[in-house]
Amino acid sequence: MSFADRRKKTFEGVEADALLVTTPANVRYLTGFTGSNGQLLLAAESVFYTDGRYKEQSETQVPDLERRIYSASLKFSEVLAKDVADRGLTRLGVEAEHMTLATETRLRKGLDGIEFVRTDGVVEKVRQVKDRAEIDAIRRAQKIAEDAVSSSVGAFTGGTEHDLALAIEWAMRTNGAESVSFDTIVAGGAHSALPHAEPRDVAIDPDGLLLIDFGAKFEGYCSDTTRTWVGANAPDEIRKVHDAVVRALEAGCEAVKPGVTGADVDAAARKSLESDGYADYFVHSTGHGVGLDIHEGPTLAPGSDTVLEPGMLVTIEPGVYLPGVGGVRVEDLLVVTEVGYENLTTLPRGPNG
Ligand code: ZN
Ligand code: ZN
Repeated sequence: MSFADRRKKTFEGVEADALLVTTPANVRYLTGFTGSNGQLLLAAESVFYTDGRYKEQSETQVPDLERRIYSASLKFSEVLAKDVADRGLTRLGVEAEHMTLATETRLRKGLDGIEFVRTDGVVEKVRQVKDRAEIDAIRRAQKIAEDAVSSSVGAFTGGTEHDLALAIEWAMRTNGAESVSFDTIVAGGAHSALPHAEPRDVAIDPDGLLLIDFGAKFEGYCSDTTRTWVGANAPDEIRKVHDAVVRALEAGCEAVKPGVTGADVDAAARKSLESDGYADYFVHSTGHGVGLDIHEGPTLAPGSDTVLEPGMLVTIEPGVYLPGVGGVRVEDLLVVTEVGYENLTTLPRGPNG
């Protein structure tokens, strides 16, 4: 889908005369601009804004829109006020989740008499369903990340959690990732009982328990996968836990198809852990959407009424965390298809990698 098509589709969902898009990932999605500071007035005639640092970059990346460059002497609020007046807009949508109170106060000064309409997730809703190019970028990010983990874990002869996290991130960048999609989690032994453990300067037991949650970014798009290795020195119960988590992952995956809600998928994975007696130790949601952001819609959690559609990308990531003993999470990345799902993850689910 072209950027113009994305803008058209998004504008249809705007319940105001225009939407001021300020969330960086939303600006990127609707314009192709990758810089750190840009705004879009999404209207019948849209306008792109940035500062002098991005003049040249925006000419290349956003050739199909009117562009305004602001500066310390010609402020964004002034340039925007003129465009709003010229277009006769009276109801201006703003992204309430992103706009700070300070920005709102600044903008209001030049926009006397203009109603600010607080919106929530207008662009994010469109972003949930990916087109072919987006899915291809995520597929590529997934492959880069998996190759990096396979080679790094395969070549690992000893060292700390930090060492292994660095080796994985180095390999992802070497394989063509533009960055990581989040800080790599490498957690050995009982440290894995923390769902979002930070790597420590602690040696990994190569025959112990090891959890790695990792993702690469390619062309702005994220991947996300977790694997847990259960070595000979891991506590006995962890082997049972790993089996239960993989069963829950399978149950979650099998529930993924168009027409079901995020809550349905969550319930399938949760029910499986319940029958294995571990539901009390599953302390987070079953999964989330992945795209330009590592966490985006749809959410697969109790109460999530988002209905799955073909083209959505979701993780399924049940986990069981036994305090003081260790944790197991196994996470796959799926595309919702017309009939069910395609699993983009190809790494074995373990327990031994
Ligand atoms: Zn993850
Ligand atoms: Zn995840």
